[in-house]
Amino acid sequence: MKITAVEVLVLKSPGLYRSPEDASEPPGPTYMGLVRVSTDAGITGYSDMETAPTVAKAIVEAPRWSDDGLECFDGLAALLVGENPLEVERLWYKMYRGSIYYGRRGAAMQAISAIDIALWDILGRYYRQPIHILLGGRWRDRVRAYASTLFRPTPEAMREAARRYLDQGFTAVKFGWGVFGRDPALDQRLVEAARNALGDHAELMVDTGWFAERTPKEAIRMIRALEPFRPYFVEEPLHPEDYDGYRQVAEAVNTLIACGEQESTEWGFAQLIERARVDVVQPDLTRCGGLTVGRKIVHMAERANRLVIPHSWCSDLLTAASLHLMAWARRAAFVEFNTSAGPLSRELVREPLRLEDGYLRVPHGPGLGVEVNEETVARYRIA
Ligand code: MG
Repeated sequence: MKITAVEVLVLKSPGLYRSPEDASEPPGPTYMGLVRVSTDAGITGYSDMETAPTVAKAIVEAPRWSDDGLECFDGLAALLVGENPLEVERLWYKMYRGSIYYGRRGAAMQAISAIDIALWDILGRYYRQPIHILLGGRWRDRVRAYASTLFRPTPEAMREAARRYLDQGFTAVKFGWGVFGRDPALDQRLVEAARNALGDHAELMVDTGWFAERTPKEAIRMIRALEPFRPYFVEEPLHPEDYDGYRQVAEAVNTLIACGEQESTEWGFAQLIERARVDVVQPDLTRCGGLTVGRKIVHMAERANRLVIPHSWCSDLLTAASLHLMAWARRAAFVEFNTSAGPLSRELVREPLRLEDGYLRVPHGPGLGVEVNEETVARYRIA
């Protein structure tokens, strides 16, 4: 079997801007890159990609410059066409090395990540096994999901939203970004309102938004003010590059500190685990390096006794990939479930993932175990 094409389809969902003052359900991603890897055996692999999709498309489609044999400025598709798609780990490194002078992180790594997931999808379809079996096995058939949404602007709107997620069957809810971080007094009232509506038994997570540019001591003060409302974790209280600041915060408070959606590669996550000492690492499989790197992150986190809760705020393709990782990991706390109603979140696969008693079922079909809805792709494709 040989790879015949690697493409990035750019999808756009129209008119989805939502201001932080809006109390409605967030609409989800406006733009999405969809990677499609084709083979001469008729097997196709897919992955979504949370990045600037036209940038990633250029990285994938750039020509091969290395006529002199020195691969370091090449486009990713040119590196892969003709290769055996089953050699996933070697191909990961071929892409990394072949793009290293302009790549290593950022959009290049996001494109590598999505291609890697699509190759795992092909691997599973070829061997007729779900990805978690190929990773090493199935510890569980379902993973507890947390509803992932944005802060609402008022305590009443927070209560109303929290009650609605409980009604949908969620047992955990994360509120993030939005108006949080503008006014510490309002922040406390919003988190208090969510806690009151959720009651004692549901978990509440808070994504504080790193862009508030807090110092470590400001972050410690903020987290201590939220601790009466028992957040399960507090996410990204600091700038993602502030590894030493994270360590200072993690050592000062009892609340679990979560970080990692901006991080990538095994080398970056080693910093987050060993130097920043965060309690919860949150790899986004479409940004960290794909399942090939996600597997290494789980090994590192297990060895250091930290939790892995993947970031997945895109479509059901990414949620499915995250479910496979969490079905295989020995310890799984949660998977993130984007509650937004937008079509790129809800309609990209033919049978959207559904919550059952607060859990998401791990797909059992071959590869990712979910099928891309070609009609949705045709409706929203712009490039
Ligand atoms: Mg976040």
